Amino acid sequence: MLIGIHTSISGGYSAAIEEGEGAGAEAVQIFVRQNLSWNRKVVTEEEAEDFRRRLETSVSVKKVVAHSSYLINLASDNRTTVKRSVSLMAEELLICKSLGIDIYVMHPGSHKGYGVEVGIQKIIDGLKNVRDKTGDTDVRVAFETTAGSGGQIGSTLDEIAEILTKSDKIINAAVCIDTAHLFGAGYNINDNTEYERLIREIDSKIGVGKVLVCHLNDSKAELATRKDRHEHIGKGKIDISVFRTILKDLRLGNAIAILETPKEMREDGISYDSINIELLKSLRDG
Ligand SMILES: [Zn+2]
Ligand SMILES: [Zn+2]
Repeated sequence: MLIGIHTSISGGYSAAIEEGEGAGAEAVQIFVRQNLSWNRKVVTEEEAEDFRRRLETSVSVKKVVAHSSYLINLASDNRTTVKRSVSLMAEELLICKSLGIDIYVMHPGSHKGYGVEVGIQKIIDGLKNVRDKTGDTDVRVAFETTAGSGGQIGSTLDEIAEILTKSDKIINAAVCIDTAHLFGAGYNINDNTEYERLIREIDSKIGVGKVLVCHLNDSKAELATRKDRHEHIGKGKIDISVFRTILKDLRLGNAIAILETPKEMREDGISYDSINIELLKSLRDG
């Protein structure tokens, strides 16, 4: 399993690869446009080509995945938000296509109180509208498991499975599991039996081969608190052995591991990105 980090595109797409290389990453995850802005982003062919060449020639970074903007909520009860979300998602998928990125991680959305069923139907309708705008892109949309706060859809495997089943003919859907979110949602992955049950449940309801990304984050929040607070590996509530188990789990062989831990420096001036990557590599290879 490749081990990577989320990096910034503020210095350009190629700089995001360089940031990953600097930390020893084998993969990076990026927002393909400024995350918290609705403004349109135009990617020139030159930028895209430069990025693709940079990735091809990178000594350490082998793969780049995208993460959707936090503004997108196809399940919103506000029509304007849904409309803007559809446009933004379509735009992001087309940017992925031009950059040659084939995995797009996305939070399913938040239903704001009127229920999961209606929310999921809105997501499916939204995906149809996105698809009408983009046509077939070959970009796989990996729905991320959530901690379940504030009406977030996707805190159970059943919800993720339902989205995948219903979007089957619309998009090429896949899954991203996030350890901190699973833990917050109440999946006690610290218990080996529960971890096994989780993987088997993913396999029976979704197909474990559809897990394309594993966000490996420790959690500041306790089990089942529905809180989403990421912590450095080994410093939170998730046992370090869980990360070893995941990295060595051959059933998750299609997945890329991405850290989304705080961007901080240790007192000795070494970035926690390098430290967390080093630690995960030692768990995987040790
Ligand atoms: Zn996410
Ligand atoms: Zn995540």
